[in-house]
Amino acid sequence: MKIAGVNTYLMQAGARPDLTRAMGADADFRGSRCWLFLEIETDEGITGVGECSGWPRAVETAITDLSHVLVGQDPAHIDRLWAQCYRAMMGHGLTGTVGAGALSGIEMALWDIKGKLLGAPVWQLLGGAIRERIPVYGHAHTADEALALKDLGYSALKTPFTGIVDFDRIGMLRDTVGPEIDIAVDAHGPSWMSAADAILVGRELEPYDLLFYEDPVPPENLDMLARVRDHVAVPLAAGERVGTVHGCRDYIERDLVDVIQPDTGRGGGIGQMRKIAAMAEPHGIMLAPHSGSLGPVAEFAALHIMATVPNALLLERIEFDWPGRYEVVTPVLKVEHGCLPLPTAPGLGVELVKDEIAKYPVQRNVTMPPKDDGRAYVAGTAGEAVHVQTRRARARTLRR
Ligand SMILES: [Mg+2]
Repeated sequence: MKIAGVNTYLMQAGARPDLTRAMGADADFRGSRCWLFLEIETDEGITGVGECSGWPRAVETAITDLSHVLVGQDPAHIDRLWAQCYRAMMGHGLTGTVGAGALSGIEMALWDIKGKLLGAPVWQLLGGAIRERIPVYGHAHTADEALALKDLGYSALKTPFTGIVDFDRIGMLRDTVGPEIDIAVDAHGPSWMSAADAILVGRELEPYDLLFYEDPVPPENLDMLARVRDHVAVPLAAGERVGTVHGCRDYIERDLVDVIQPDTGRGGGIGQMRKIAAMAEPHGIMLAPHSGSLGPVAEFAALHIMATVPNALLLERIEFDWPGRYEVVTPVLKVEHGCLPLPTAPGLGVELVKDEIAKYPVQRNVTMPPKDDGRAYVAGTAGEAVHVQTRRARARTLRR
């Protein structure tokens, strides 16, 4: 069998309803994402599908370049092809998320081909399933959203931290769902956050008994994360913005986190995600793949990963996503008792619905900064602190 071609499908996924409520009129674009799917064709009619993040429009170009490495080769040699593609990017820098995004989708599609060829789901080829249901956590801003997740059997939810108003909101969520549901808080590693302020926030969060405090500081400087680690008694999570074992190595070897969160679309592929989990395992660090901006193909890949690593914690899931999510692939995953079932079809178990994907041509590929329209740079909000560095202004945003 030989690889005959590589096709990409780039689309504009709409904003999540929860972000639409939170952001108002700008949500259509500020909350929307590009999803990039790919399909590897073979000369024997079997095709494999994958998904890439890491800046999807740029990744699409990377895949077009890498198709010259792939076409004509035997798709069964997954690790060899990964290594050849990785080496082919040497001149572009090897560890960035654009390259890792391309590798992720390509390697995912190669596993899909191998599973279809052998008539087995990918998790079966990876050593079999340690668990047959994958627990997920959802996103909730409001009491209604938290209760909707609880009704679906979710055992954990995540909510954002953007400033002091969120302390009371986190307390409200805790009161709403009770002590049996885990709550995680995502600070999104804003570029303006200092280690000193992330420590102040973390200490305020300690009484809420959080599952984890995610990205308290920007990911560009791990010494800042080390300072937070030394001063805050809350489990920490990070890693969604780095790719491959090389991107995750310092987080793990320096014991900077309790939960490592590589993104299934830019972690480097199913093999890299499993290697990251294996690196984390002896450190007592759990794997909880990032999925906040990803589409449904990567979610299927994440299930195969989570099934086969012992230190899998929970998979992130946007339960109440943009409705088009459920039209662009088949079948549609459904949460039962807070878990997703393992796919049983050969390969990844998911196929693209190309006619639906074609309905959503790509429009924008970056998050637009907030305009000074009355909702940004408002005193007492996180937006104010983007450029205001005085203690007084920052304290108003972050201290109770
Ligand atoms: Mg996050």
